[in-house]
Amino acid sequence: MDINKLVRKNVQQLTPYQSARRIGGQGDVWLNANEYPVAPHFELTEQTLNRYPEPQPEKVIQRYAQYAGVKTEQVLVSRGADEAIELLMRAFCEPQHDSILYCPPTYGMYQVSAETLGIKTKTVPTTSDWQLDLEGIKQNIDTVKLIYVCSPNNPTGNLIDSDDIKALLNIAKDRALVIIDEAYIEFSPESSVVSWLNDYPHLVILRTLSKAFALAGLRCGFTIANKPVIEALQKVIAPYPLATPVADIAAQALSKDGVNTMKLHVVNLNNQKGKFANLLRQLPIVEKVYPSYSNYLCVKFQHDKDVFNILWHQGIILRDQSRSIGQQNIIRITIGTQADCEAVISALKTIK
Ligand SMILES: *Cc1c(COP(=O)(O)O)cnc(C)c1O
Repeated sequence: MDINKLVRKNVQQLTPYQSARRIGGQGDVWLNANEYPVAPHFELTEQTLNRYPEPQPEKVIQRYAQYAGVKTEQVLVSRGADEAIELLMRAFCEPQHDSILYCPPTYGMYQVSAETLGIKTKTVPTTSDWQLDLEGIKQNIDTVKLIYVCSPNNPTGNLIDSDDIKALLNIAKDRALVIIDEAYIEFSPESSVVSWLNDYPHLVILRTLSKAFALAGLRCGFTIANKPVIEALQKVIAPYPLATPVADIAAQALSKDGVNTMKLHVVNLNNQKGKFANLLRQLPIVEKVYPSYSNYLCVKFQHDKDVFNILWHQGIILRDQSRSIGQQNIIRITIGTQADCEAVISALKTIK
């Protein structure tokens, strides 16, 4: 029996998200998933594993709302920001009929989630400086319910111009939600659009504990939006999205101490990023190091150098971007420890 014949057509055709873990590799320098390079330490305090967890753990919601400067009714917690990306589609898009719109090069999960659910995708590539093509978006907005914008953008590391985001919100008014994916916002907190929530009922912000909070393994993310959006998402989310140990650790990470620790990490990491970028710029094989407002650098190498594979075989695992639109000869490198960065620089120096 050919089970594949039973699989939904769109799933048969689906290319799953090429996560860093799925791509694999062997090595001791892992700079391909924008993870924080050092594991934080937590102890479990909650032992009542015989009971189901709270659907939306109160302490986590309260602490995140306080950290983000919003009301508790404006926060939803989910199994990573990735789950939130999909919940929005499940709550707002009619399969086969409605579309989402996104602007490549950008995060890959918008496409994968839409294709999984049978929701159409419209892509409006960014301008050559990786900003929004507002005119192109305007022309493609028919049937669009959700517009995903990532800022700081993964993989390019730049911020999306805030006036353009405002213009986009005006274009989308009465038509679509505008979702600003702020997975990396802790590395440039002044650029968050969270303070605009009261002015725009159709603004949605995605956040995560996976990046600056150093908890990618926890699987905990947040949606910040006005109450009607949060209520719609509550209808489609799993009954118990967060395991008890996850909520326990998330609450600790969001305590005053936890947030202060995160902020210290961000200062150190941003320093490390500056030093690393300067060293990269001195290498002849490096054509360009793009400005980064996140915890990774987008680096363009000379076109005839097989940098990604050479480092891969030395156990230094980076993220090859060269098959993405407008990303030829570009590699995305997560900022690791000082030792990680030094390993990259030494390996690059041997490439002639
Ligand atoms: C890492 C990442 C996410 C996913 O975050 P999780 O909370 O780990 O699911 C979402 N958006 C962007 C842009 C990311 O880079």
